Amino acid sequence: MKHSATPAPLPFKARAAQALADPTLKIAIGRTTGTAERKRAAALADFPQFGAARDQGKRIKDHVIAHLDHYLVEFERNAIASGAQVHWAATASDASRIVVELCRQAGARRVTRVKSMLGEEIGLPHALDAAGIERVETDLAEHIVQLGGDTPSHIVWPAMHRTREQVSAMFKQLHRAPHTEETIEAMVESARRELRDKFLSADVAISGANFLVADTGATCTVTNEGNAELTTTPPRVHIVTAGIEKLVPSTAHAFALLRLLVRSATGADVTQYTTFHCGPRQPGDLDGPQEFHIVLVDNGRTRMLREGLKDMLRCLRCGACMNHCVVFRQLGGHAYGGVYPGPMGAVLTPVLDGLKSSRDLAHACTLNGRCQEVCPVDIPLPTLLRGWRDRSWRDGLEPRTMHVGLAGWAFVASHPRLYRLATAIALRAMRLFRRGGWIRGMPFISGWTAHRDFPAPAPKTFMAMARAMDETRTREHT
Ligand code: SF4
Repeated sequence: MKHSATPAPLPFKARAAQALADPTLKIAIGRTTGTAERKRAAALADFPQFGAARDQGKRIKDHVIAHLDHYLVEFERNAIASGAQVHWAATASDASRIVVELCRQAGARRVTRVKSMLGEEIGLPHALDAAGIERVETDLAEHIVQLGGDTPSHIVWPAMHRTREQVSAMFKQLHRAPHTEETIEAMVESARRELRDKFLSADVAISGANFLVADTGATCTVTNEGNAELTTTPPRVHIVTAGIEKLVPSTAHAFALLRLLVRSATGADVTQYTTFHCGPRQPGDLDGPQEFHIVLVDNGRTRMLREGLKDMLRCLRCGACMNHCVVFRQLGGHAYGGVYPGPMGAVLTPVLDGLKSSRDLAHACTLNGRCQEVCPVDIPLPTLLRGWRDRSWRDGLEPRTMHVGLAGWAFVASHPRLYRLATAIALRAMRLFRRGGWIRGMPFISGWTAHRDFPAPAPKTFMAMARAMDETRTREHT
């Protein structure tokens, strides 16, 4: 199998331009996000308690985040009592180093992995590849991503950038016994044949976790394909990697959040498989790993607490914000450049990669607020994005032209006569370029008109209309 490609070091605007110029990508994005939007709407229509469940979910997450120190200690104590070995990782490189070291200690030549965006966040695919350990992605979409040498483009549908026609061609080229019929079922069978013996012969399983249950020390993973169970049962060693914000006080709290997560992610009432892993195999168990490790990852999360981003720690990774984002629906996930795309990615990427290289993401947002509306835990994404814009300005990361332009605008706007004169000149100039109600090209605003039409100014300005109304009223009363 091909290894993951190194992300192209192109700036956001160049990546966005590439995405916009790809008509096949547009079809793929439209199919996935359109389906996700319809299914979520139908699921919510059948679940009138969603608003109350959302408030409850928000309260649960806020409570855990406010008492993170308490729940982390409780979780560790109970996980160790169940036979798990708990490791703490302050950074992404610490986390991937711990996982690779555990694989080496287990003498692993082949590891199976069940989808975990945290694994992508800590660079685990690359670290395993660099260590010469064969990595087998078992989630169907991740399998497609791995075959294509891509990175995930969506946190729930990692292969959403591929059409089914492209996937079919790829399977035919790279699978040992590919499908012959052009049906989804035949393609799934082809992937099954390709993966089955790898599931059974892996030395180590690596999974993520949707929840960490403090009062039992269990980890909870949800999938629709059953690959989490098949991944984590046969190998001798099971390693779970999870961000520290995944904690919940109890199993009941995990189920309360699950109701929100699943409906928001896939539009189903419940996932096909919800599995709680609690320690290694015990005497009398028919199967299960001999060793069970949990790697708890910080990687900027406690910094988010300190830096006004604690609301973002509520994120359930459901993907609803990206499915409903007008920018994401044009570009797909790769254009964002980081591990996490869409609105939540635009908030998280500056934490993970630094604001300097990712400040354009906050600027790309239209601030229409749809992402917060659909977020199952009411994360104020637009406010957080405005916060990054503000920070970028305060840290001096915005270009000098922006500083000069805004200073000029502030000066003109605070001098009414100058403002009226500048407006009159601008309007006359714009009318020269008007074509049927639109301006399709004009010097100084070509950055806008190269990709979008600009509405031609109305014949009269708002101020002129107000003045005319005032004059009419005065005449009528005299
Ligand atoms: S920010 Fe909200 S909508 Fe977006 S992935 Fe996280 S929980 Fe889902």
